[in-house]
Amino acid sequence: MAQIVKIKFITHLTHDVLKIVAEKPADLVYQPGQAVDISINRPGWEDALRSFTFTSLPDDDHIEFSIKTYPAHNGVTNQLLSLKQGDAITVHDVFGDIHYKGEGIFIAGGAGITPFIAIFKQLEKENKIGNNKLIFANKTKADIILEDKFLQLLGNNFINILSDEKIDRYEHGFISAELIKKNIDNSSKYFYLCGPDPMMQAVEKHLSALGLAESSIVKEAF
Ligand SMILES: Cc1cc2nc3c(=O)[nH]c(=O)nc-3n(C[C@H](O)[C@H](O)[C@H](O)COP(=O)(O)OP(=O)(O)OC[C@H]3O[C@@H](n4cnc5c(N)ncnc54)[C@H](O)[C@@H]3O)c2cc1C
Repeated sequence: MAQIVKIKFITHLTHDVLKIVAEKPADLVYQPGQAVDISINRPGWEDALRSFTFTSLPDDDHIEFSIKTYPAHNGVTNQLLSLKQGDAITVHDVFGDIHYKGEGIFIAGGAGITPFIAIFKQLEKENKIGNNKLIFANKTKADIILEDKFLQLLGNNFINILSDEKIDRYEHGFISAELIKKNIDNSSKYFYLCGPDPMMQAVEKHLSALGLAESSIVKEAF
């Protein structure tokens, strides 16, 4: 059931990614990795529903979203850029296919990191980071969301790949089958995949070429 909540806090995580913290709707239930449709309570925008993933944890007393904005295009995310504390948004139905099943390799492209932010926060809370790995694909270093946080959580198990920038110690190009293969070890039971459609299609091809069972893949397209 749709509920109206107020923005508590809004800030930038990167040059184009907003962190929005809002009041938690009463009786809201969700799992780390799940998303919800939201709309902005502003004339002309009430019916424009867009999906965003909770980057807060279910037990938090607030909800949080990490949202990549597209200011070149007058859509919902551009409108979000002018929201401020006290403004209202409507939170609709919770949904989403990604949830944690066990250790593995998380593969994210851009804002596709958001379900993994929630999952890694939950694993950190439960002291269960283990040998999980994250391969995070972005255009440039400036696009990497929560780089310091993932480095602190995962150390060498955090692999960054940049398509539009060459930097020492960062992989360059697009995610390849070789990059995935060289990170597979005994802990790689599941492959979690989230990002824009072209990236998802490419990575799914690599996973299939590596002979990985469909049942080991957990995915959601953004
Ligand atoms: C389950 C799920 C969870 C998601 N969770 C998140 C999340 O947590 N964080 C997040 O950042 N995103 C998330 N997304 C993606 C997010 O929903 C979209 O980025 C968002 O809906 C874009 O809304 P918009 O109104 O700004 O753009 P829309 O009007 O919906 O346009 C969609 C796309 O058009 C493209 N576009 C850019 N410029 C133009 C133009 N001039 N004309 C036309 N199209 C253009 C943009 O690339 C954009 O992705 C999620 C998606 C799904 C399906």
